[in-house]
Amino acid sequence: MDKRIALVTGASRGIGAAIATVLAQDGFDLWLNYRSNHEAAERVKNEIEQTNAQCRLLPFDVSDSEATLSVLDPLIEKETPYVLVNNAGFTRDMLMIWMNQNDWKDVLSVTLDGFFQVTRAVIKGMLTKRRGRIINIVSTSGQSGMAGQVNYSAAKAGLIGATKALAAEVAKRNVLVNAVSPGFIETEMIKDIPKEKVLPMIPMQRFGTPEEVAAAVRFLCSDQASYITGQIIAVNGGVYM
Ligand code: NAP
Repeated sequence: MDKRIALVTGASRGIGAAIATVLAQDGFDLWLNYRSNHEAAERVKNEIEQTNAQCRLLPFDVSDSEATLSVLDPLIEKETPYVLVNNAGFTRDMLMIWMNQNDWKDVLSVTLDGFFQVTRAVIKGMLTKRRGRIINIVSTSGQSGMAGQVNYSAAKAGLIGATKALAAEVAKRNVLVNAVSPGFIETEMIKDIPKEKVLPMIPMQRFGTPEEVAAAVRFLCSDQASYITGQIIAVNGGVYM
């Protein structure tokens, strides 16, 4: 069997970098997407190559349809990833009353247009080959709703709906679609949140690590997860049950 490829979006740092690293350890070659942090992406690539996996850096903005297709189309003509992890995401937090239309649109676009464009590019090949795993990184905010994050909560709730609908569409072709829903994970994304206010809300009384999220993704990409589809797996220390 040809070597399996995993495409991970937003993988230059944080949770995406941790996911790419464990998938390389599991024998996948990586297509590693990110937007602009070339130095950080090079560091992840070097780490991945130490595991004897190959790593191709694919810088593009997932919310930009032309940029996405100009990078992915030529690759997909030749090879189909076995795994796609839609991880790219960002926040622009503020109360709804202060939120302008760009704050709303940009957060929705990276999460939802990004999911649509990247997934649509690879899914035809997965369906033809009758194999594939798609994992969408959502958030507790999309399950419980979070004050100050109306845009982000809407985006992630939308991605949960898309996960379930797509899972139902493609299950009969052995393409499995699930979501992993992190709580508060120690990355740059949460560097500005007031820790002393948040920690008491978390039953486990600590933040999670990118590696703890990556472990759930790793399982969903493994042969052991062959009968799991349409599910939302929470990795959140009990903050939402
Ligand atoms: P992070 O540390 O801020 O890293 C974000 C990554 O996404 C970077 O690699 C960044 O690339 C990339 N990215 C951002 N916008 C992009 C775009 N338009 N196109 C392509 N790549 C883009 O974030 P993280 O904490 O690891 O979050 C990863 C995922 O987990 C996100 O979907 C996030 O919503 C979700 N999540 C995080 C938490 C948390 O507490 N950290 C909780 C729940 C869910 P560049 O650096 O090159 O721009």
